[in-house]
Amino acid sequence: MKQQRKIISRSLRMLMKSSWKETAVSLIILTVRSFLPLVGVLLIRYYVDRITGVTAGGELPVISAVTGLIAAMAATLLVDDLLASAGSYFTRKQSVRVEGHISSLIHRHATGMGLRFFEDPAFHDGMSRAARDISWRPAAMVADIILLVRGVISFIVMGYVLRTFGIIPLAVLALLFLPLLWIRYRNSSRIYKARRSVTPLTRQAAYFSWLLTGEKPAREVKLFGLGDYFERLFRRSFDGSRAPELEAVRKNTLLESAASLVKVAAFAGILVYASGAFIRSVITAGELAMYLVAFRQALVYLRDAVSGYAGLAENRLFLYDLFSFLDMKGDMSGDGMPPESPDFSEIVAENVTFTYPGATEPALAGINLKISRGEKIAVVGPNGSGKTTLVKLLCRLYDPDDGRILLNGRDIATLNPAAYRRLFSVVFQNFMLYYLSAGENIRLSSDAESSDPERVREAAARAGIASLLESMPEGYDTMLGHHTEGGREMSWGEWQKIAIARALYRRAPVLILDEPSSSLDADSEYEIFSDLGRITDGRSCIFISHRLSNVREADRIIVLDRGRIAESGTHDELMAARGRYHEMYSRQKSMYR
Ligand code: ADP
Repeated sequence: MKQQRKIISRSLRMLMKSSWKETAVSLIILTVRSFLPLVGVLLIRYYVDRITGVTAGGELPVISAVTGLIAAMAATLLVDDLLASAGSYFTRKQSVRVEGHISSLIHRHATGMGLRFFEDPAFHDGMSRAARDISWRPAAMVADIILLVRGVISFIVMGYVLRTFGIIPLAVLALLFLPLLWIRYRNSSRIYKARRSVTPLTRQAAYFSWLLTGEKPAREVKLFGLGDYFERLFRRSFDGSRAPELEAVRKNTLLESAASLVKVAAFAGILVYASGAFIRSVITAGELAMYLVAFRQALVYLRDAVSGYAGLAENRLFLYDLFSFLDMKGDMSGDGMPPESPDFSEIVAENVTFTYPGATEPALAGINLKISRGEKIAVVGPNGSGKTTLVKLLCRLYDPDDGRILLNGRDIATLNPAAYRRLFSVVFQNFMLYYLSAGENIRLSSDAESSDPERVREAAARAGIASLLESMPEGYDTMLGHHTEGGREMSWGEWQKIAIARALYRRAPVLILDEPSSSLDADSEYEIFSDLGRITDGRSCIFISHRLSNVREADRIIVLDRGRIAESGTHDELMAARGRYHEMYSRQKSMYR
C-alpha cells in the first residue's frame, strides 16, 4: 500500500514536472464537472414537481412556468459537453508532453548504463517493459485519476441526494462498491502478470518482424528465401506472447458479467422500493424522478470510480516497471565523481582478468601492459583471443573482474567513466553508420554542435574519403544512407573510411583502431595505414590488425592468445624470437608472395 502510494505520488510529480499547466486545467474542469450532475438532478426534481403542479398548490401547469427550468437543464448539459471536449483536448496535450518526458528519461538513463547491461537480455526485457505503452499509459493514468476522483465526488453527491430516501439505497450502493473494487483489482493484476510473463516472447516477435521488414536483413532474407520461415517464427512468438493476456481477459470478463448481474438486480430492487414509496404517497412524483435518476447516475459514477481505481492500479503496476528501470543503478564506480578531464601520460594494466557473464573461460587473464604517451602499440592474435575485449576494458566499457587499470598511477575505477573515455577515440570493428549528413558523421565524435569545417575536411582527407565526399552535390551536407529521401548510400569500405575520419577528428590523446582496414581495398589500406605516424599524428595508438605487414613499425607488438599475452616486443625482436609472431608473419608472407 505504501509502495502503491509512492508510485502514484511519483507519477503525479512526473505529471506536474512535464505538464503542470495541462494538469491544472484538467483538475479545474474535473472539479466543475463533478458538481454538474447534482445541478442536473435537482433541476429534474423541480421540473417534474412544477410540471405536475404539486409545488404550485394545484394550479394548472403552463409551459411558460417550466421554460426557465428547461433552459437551465439544457444549459447544464451544454456546459458539461463543452467541458468534456475541452477536457479531452487538454488530456491529449498532457499525454503528448508526458510521453515526450518519459521517453527522454528512458533514453537518458539507458545511455548512462554500462555496456554490460546492453548485452544482458534481462536489461532489454526491463527496458522494453518500461517503454511499453508509454504512448497511452500516461494519458490513461490521468484519465483514470480524473475518472476516479470525479466518480467518487459525484457518487458522494448522489449519495447526499439519496439520503432522504432512506438508508437502504445507500447501503446497497456501498455493498456493491466493495466486491466490484476487489474484482477489478484482481483483474488488473492478472493482466499485468500475463503481460509480464511474455516480455521475452514479445521482444522475439519484434525481432522477427524487424528481420522481415528491415533494410539490413532484406538482402539475405530475399536471397535465401527466408520470408516464410521467419513469418512462421514471428507468428509463433506473436501468438505465444498474446495468448496469456487473452486468457486473462476471458477470466476477467466472466467475473465482470457476474458483477453486472448484481448491479442490475440492485437497480431493479430500487425501482420496486421507490414505486412502493410513491404509491404509498411517501414521496412526490418529482422526488421519485429525482431518486431514480440519482440512483442511475450513482451507479454510473460508481462504475466510473471503480474503473478509475482499477485502471490506476493497473497503470501503477506498469509504472512500477518504468520506475524500477529508472532506478536501476549502473555497474561502474565513479559515476558520481566530478567529470574532470584527466591528462594522459600513461595507462598501465595490472594483472587484468575479465570473464563475460555466463562464460566459463576468461576472455582476458593476467594481462600486464603499459602504454606511454605517443607510443604505438599493435595487438595481434587469432579470432577470439581477446583483442577487442582488451580495447573495451582500456576504454572502460567494462571494469575488470580482477586486477586494475591505472591512469597516471590512479586506478580508473575512481574516475568518472564518461570523463575518462574522453581520452580515447576508437574505430570499432563493428563501427556505426549514422544516417546523418557526411559532415555530421565525422564531427559527431567531438562536440557535434560546434563544427570546424577545416578540421572535418582534414580528417576526411587523412581517412582517404575527402575527394568522394567533396564530389557529392551537397558536399559535406549530403545526407548519407537510404534512410532519408535522396540520401547517398555508401559502400561498406566507404563507411569504414568515414568511421576512421570520425575517430581522427576527435582530439583525444589515445587512438584505438580495431581492424580499421577490414573492408578497405589494398590501395586504400596502403594509403591510410602505411604510415602509422602520419595517421596518429603524435598520439598514442593501439592498433589491432590481422594484416601483419601493417604493424611492423609499431613501437611494440603484443601477441594475444586465448586471453593471455603470449609474447611482446618489436617486430625485429619477435622475429628473432621465432615464436608465435614469427610463425604468423612467415605464413602471411608466404601467402602474399
Ligand atoms: P578478438 O577481438 O580477439 O577476436 P574478442 O575480444 O572479441 O576477441 O573475444 C574474446 C572472447 O570473448 C571470445 O571467445 C568471444 O566469444 C567472447 N566474447 C566477446 N564478446 C563477448 C560478449 N559481448 N559477451 C560474451 N562473450 C563475448
